[in-house]
Amino acid sequence: MGHFVRDFSAGNRDQAELLGGKGANLAEMTRLGLPVPPGFTITTEACRHHLVHGAPPTGLAEEVTEHLAGLEAVMGRRLGDPADPLLVSVRSGARFSMPGMMETVLDVGLNDASVEGLAAQSGSPRFAWDSYRRLIQMFGATVLGVDAHHFAGALADHKLGAGRPRDTDLTETDLRDLVEQFQELIEKHSGRRFPQDPREQLNLTITAVFDSWHTERARLYRQREQIPDGLGTAVNVQAMVFGNRGPTSGSGVCFTRDPATGARGTYGDYLQDAQGEDVVAGIRNTMPLTDLADVDPRSHATLLQVMARLEDRYADMCDIEFTIELGRLWVLQTRVGKRTAHAAFQIAADMVDEGRIDLDEALRRVSGAQLSQLMFPRFDQTAERVLLARGVNASPGAASGRLVFDSSTAIAWAARGEAVVLARPETDPDDLGGMIAAHGVLTSRGGRTSHAAVVARGMGRTCVCGADSLDIDVEGRRLTVRSGPTLVEGDVVSIDGATGEVFAGAVPVVESPVARWLDGRNDGRDVELVAAVARLLAHADERRHLGVLANADTPEDARRARRYGAAGIGLCRTEHMFLGERRQLVERLIVAESDAERTAALDALLPLQRTDFVQVLEAMDGLPVTVRLIDPPLHEFLPDLTELSVRLAVEETQGAADPHDVRLLAAVRRLHEQNPMLGLRGVRLGLVVPGLVTMQVRALLNAAADRIEAGGDPKPEVMVPLVATERELQLVRAEVQQVRRDVEAERGLELSCPVGTMIEVPRAALTAGEIAGTADFFSFGTNDLTQMTWGFSRDDVEAAFFPTYLDRGIFPVSPFESLDVAGVGELVRIAVERAHEVAPDLPTGVCGEHGGDPRSIHFFEQAGLDYVSCSPYRVPVARLEAGRAALD
Ligand code: ADP
Ligand code: MG
Ligand code: MG
Repeated sequence: MGHFVRDFSAGNRDQAELLGGKGANLAEMTRLGLPVPPGFTITTEACRHHLVHGAPPTGLAEEVTEHLAGLEAVMGRRLGDPADPLLVSVRSGARFSMPGMMETVLDVGLNDASVEGLAAQSGSPRFAWDSYRRLIQMFGATVLGVDAHHFAGALADHKLGAGRPRDTDLTETDLRDLVEQFQELIEKHSGRRFPQDPREQLNLTITAVFDSWHTERARLYRQREQIPDGLGTAVNVQAMVFGNRGPTSGSGVCFTRDPATGARGTYGDYLQDAQGEDVVAGIRNTMPLTDLADVDPRSHATLLQVMARLEDRYADMCDIEFTIELGRLWVLQTRVGKRTAHAAFQIAADMVDEGRIDLDEALRRVSGAQLSQLMFPRFDQTAERVLLARGVNASPGAASGRLVFDSSTAIAWAARGEAVVLARPETDPDDLGGMIAAHGVLTSRGGRTSHAAVVARGMGRTCVCGADSLDIDVEGRRLTVRSGPTLVEGDVVSIDGATGEVFAGAVPVVESPVARWLDGRNDGRDVELVAAVARLLAHADERRHLGVLANADTPEDARRARRYGAAGIGLCRTEHMFLGERRQLVERLIVAESDAERTAALDALLPLQRTDFVQVLEAMDGLPVTVRLIDPPLHEFLPDLTELSVRLAVEETQGAADPHDVRLLAAVRRLHEQNPMLGLRGVRLGLVVPGLVTMQVRALLNAAADRIEAGGDPKPEVMVPLVATERELQLVRAEVQQVRRDVEAERGLELSCPVGTMIEVPRAALTAGEIAGTADFFSFGTNDLTQMTWGFSRDDVEAAFFPTYLDRGIFPVSPFESLDVAGVGELVRIAVERAHEVAPDLPTGVCGEHGGDPRSIHFFEQAGLDYVSCSPYRVPVARLEAGRAALD
């Protein structure tokens, strides 16, 4: 037995790596005794050899000969025999399904002689010539590289000329004509003749399928889906069965459950007198599967049995391709079917009820990304909708608004309260303002890593990109749908970021039932889906090791986080407590020239902060609230340098400058930094501006005391940002402890207030062994840690050049979106390890945005962290993914 070729009867479904998904499933179905046309699989290993060495491995041709002989013996026919030919299909099939990306050629083995044999044997010359026409067309395009438009064009012209609009109306004579024309097209465009030798056809096709692994579109698809480039594809050579032999033949696809909702019951489409590719091409209208029961009850019944058998075997929803030849059913393909988020939860839960899988397996089959899709508002499925186009579902959400074609219009219209959708061929950094102002972003070019997609996802804006049937004319301010209507600036469109659909007009939006349930407003709608989600979330909670906390700064956010299942606040930013009207007080603090002035400013701020903290502590009563000391550079609280200079200049020309403004300008100048990201911020502020830490901690601990007096159970913690050395933390810690003792004495009660640090400067990660001695907990600030590890300023680089970096494969996904495990992750590992050598029980967690990112969560589980903290809306996603990570 050779290496590179396996008979269908020799494999099984666990061999997808070697046989590709399609080959492994064909083997499995053969083993189950289902009606699969016989054949054999050339392994992915042979393909890899071919791709690396530019030639097939030695011995492959002999092995193919051997297996072909076996197939010929079983079928009682020889490949391309002029009297009674065996015909085969040559089908690609990689480890991971890449729908529509790779090639398949049908009817290999037909030539000028064997077409006559097939005509005689089948008794239907029309069928024989139709098959030959198909072979030349597919072979010409796939193997000989002739532009498929030439064939499609000739076919369309012929149908028009002959006055026969449908493929099925074509007569034998028409088809003979077309075969001749197609052969001429091949000679003209490829410079070679369509090969008449059946074995040469087979060999060339196998090589072409290997090579189709490297087509541009296949490469892009893999990049987008993160499928490794080196896997290669298997090739399946299979005896042909014919769906194009008249009304008792046909082809179809079906699902064992509804792939949209997961509902039990079979779904599918069937097309009479057609080969499989006609079904997908949509050239004629299909009939629903239920109608097949009337047309061909026997095949229908067999098909139902096959479906039941496959679902039993795979214990999952299957997607099946089948062909009926003269009333006999053949199964050509199956795989675990793709499904919507809704269906994923429904099917997983139902299969547990049916005893097919356990809850762990059910949890593996759903994802945080799917859950987050289910939490977005969505377009009302029952509303009338006019589909204009379909693009890449780049960033979820449902957005309706007036069409605008440039950033400044988007900003202007949004400012007067209009909802707008910004449409561009593609976006660049200049469009950023418009993207922020718009409800949604629509582009006609670019995929999931295009500028529009990356930036929209980053800011949670709904986005559909690469809708390439749209011609977006920015100059002319209009958008034309290919072979459809033209819309102009101001017309309303709706875009669905979860499906990539673009609709005309305003489609009504409905709240997500899952979000309603999470919010505690369950009103009995979509009970089944909600129950499925609830059940899997509960199981995730049972399994997970990681705690899930929330990043929340306001009482509303804290309450929401709590409803969504957060076990506390892992990051309460205090910045917003200094904004709005309080900005004045911060200004006073900054321009203070004496201790008295400074103290006065701080004293004014303190009670305000204290009220804020009381509310947050109340919302999270009984759960920890980790307050981060003020972090951003002070100039963020001051007016803009240029604006202020202008104001002063104007004041001076009008007479006298306001002395406050003069002092303010001096302060702005003093605090102006070339690179604020690396300047006076974080712990540095607290050490440089006297009284700042004390004021914040006083406010917090007095709030805690208020809560205790009110009968509550506050659990305040203080977190120090941007620490790089143990000494910084020691100084702040001492200040916090002093305040605690003071407040305890003043209020006559005992307070507990752990002091931890963020680990967000690489030096802190590397010296974690020292810092751990002074910290009550570590919280990785992975946003800053990523910035400082890569030397990127996030706000500056993400919109500017990340799309180029993604495009050029420098990283597959933005390191701000999903943790860079090799680099930043290594620092996390090092820090945890060194810290635990000194303080084995030191709690560690993450409070960067990565805390809500599914892939990053799996890493944090592996790295042995204790918790993640993320935005309230991500809490359910993090709970689910933490549960899944525990199963890894
Ligand atoms: P894809 O991976 O794009 O689905 P396939 O290899 O499944 O490509 O081939 C496409 C279609 O060609 C199938 O759905 C089926 O209808 C048809 N086909 C493939 N092999 C055969 C065969 N042996 N007999 C009849 N039709 C076939
Ligand atoms: Mg297929
Ligand atoms: Mg930070």
